[in-house]
Amino acid sequence: GATMAKSKFEYVRDFEADDTCLAHCWVVVRLDGRNFHRFSEKHNFAKPNDSRALYLMTKCAQTVMEELEDIVIAYGQSDEYSFVFKRKSNWFKRRASKFMTHVASQFASSYVFYWRDFFEDQPLLYPPGFDGRVVVYPNNQTLKDYLSWRQADCHINNLYNTVFWALVQQSGLTPVQAQGRLQGTLAADKNEILFSEFNINYNNEPLMYRKGTVLIWQKVDEVTTKEVKLPAEMEGKKMAVTRTRTKPVPLHCDIIGDAFWKDHPEILD
Ligand code: ATP
Ligand code: ATP
Ligand code: MG
Ligand code: MG
Ligand code: MG
Ligand code: MG
Repeated sequence: GATMAKSKFEYVRDFEADDTCLAHCWVVVRLDGRNFHRFSEKHNFAKPNDSRALYLMTKCAQTVMEELEDIVIAYGQSDEYSFVFKRKSNWFKRRASKFMTHVASQFASSYVFYWRDFFEDQPLLYPPGFDGRVVVYPNNQTLKDYLSWRQADCHINNLYNTVFWALVQQSGLTPVQAQGRLQGTLAADKNEILFSEFNINYNNEPLMYRKGTVLIWQKVDEVTTKEVKLPAEMEGKKMAVTRTRTKPVPLHCDIIGDAFWKDHPEILD
C-alpha cells in the first residue's frame, strides 16, 4: 500500500524557520492595542482612565488564560497585556509564532465578542487590532524584573496622565499647554501639582489605575443551582451546589516588591 502521501511540493515546508523558544525559560507574550490613541478617542473613552476599557481588557485576558494552555500569570495596563507561560511548557513544542498568534487572535476576538458587556450603549465602530511580541527570560529574576518594568511603566504613565488631564479638564489648558506645563517635571512635582491645585492625593487614586491588573490562578467557590436527580420524591427540585473552581482572578497589587512573590511562591514553582 501507499505510504503517507507526499506531493512534490512538500519541500516548501523546509522554508519555515525554527522559532522554538529556548527550553526551561519563561516565555512572555505581550500584546498592545494598535493605535489605541485614536481608538480610545473614537469610542469616547473617559480620560485618563476608562474603567470599562480596563475591565474589558481583563475579561479578554481571562479568556486567553482559560482557553490556552500553561499561562501562569498575566499583567495588564492601558492597552497592553503580558502573558507568562510556565517554564516547562511544551505547548506547540514551544513555537514562538504559535504562542504569539494564539494569544493575539484569542484576545482580539474576545475584545469584539465581549465589547457590549462592558460598553453597552457605545457601539464598536471598527475592528480593533493588537500587535504581539515574544520575549524569553532565562530566570526568575529577569521575569520578575520584566513584570516590574511594566508596572513601573503603568505608574509613570498614570501619574503623568492624571496631572495632564486634570490640567486640561479642570484648569482649561489646551493639550499643548498642559504638556508644556509638565515638561521637565519630576514625580514629586506632579504629586505637588495634583495636591495643591486639584486637591488630589495621588495615593488615593484607584489601585487599578495606579498598579494595573495582575491575573493569577486561584481557587474560587462557585455556587450553582443543580436539578436533583435522585431520590425520586425530590425529582425536579433545585439545590444549591458549591464547587471549587480554579480561575484567573484579578488583583491590583504591587508586584515590584518581594511580598507578592513570597505570598504566591507557586507561580515561579
Ligand atoms: P501603537 O499602535 O504604537 O501601540 P497607540 O496609540 O496604541 O499606538 P500606546 O502607547 O499603546 O499607543 O498608548 C495607548 C493609548 O490608548 C494611550 O493614548 C491611552 O491614553 C489610550 N488608552 C488605552 N487604554 C485606555 C483606557 N482604559 N482609558 C483611556 N485611554 C486609554
Ligand atoms: P489545529 O488547531 O491543529 O489547526 P484543526 O481542528 O483546526 O486543529 P486543521 O488541520 O486546521 O485542524 O483542519 C481544519 C478543520 O476544520 C478540518 O477538520 C475541516 O474539516 C474543518 N473545516 C475548515 N473549514 C471548513 C469548511 N469551510 N467547511 C467544513 N469544514 C471545515
Ligand atoms: Mg506603543
Ligand atoms: Mg497601543
Ligand atoms: Mg500601549
Ligand atoms: Mg486549524
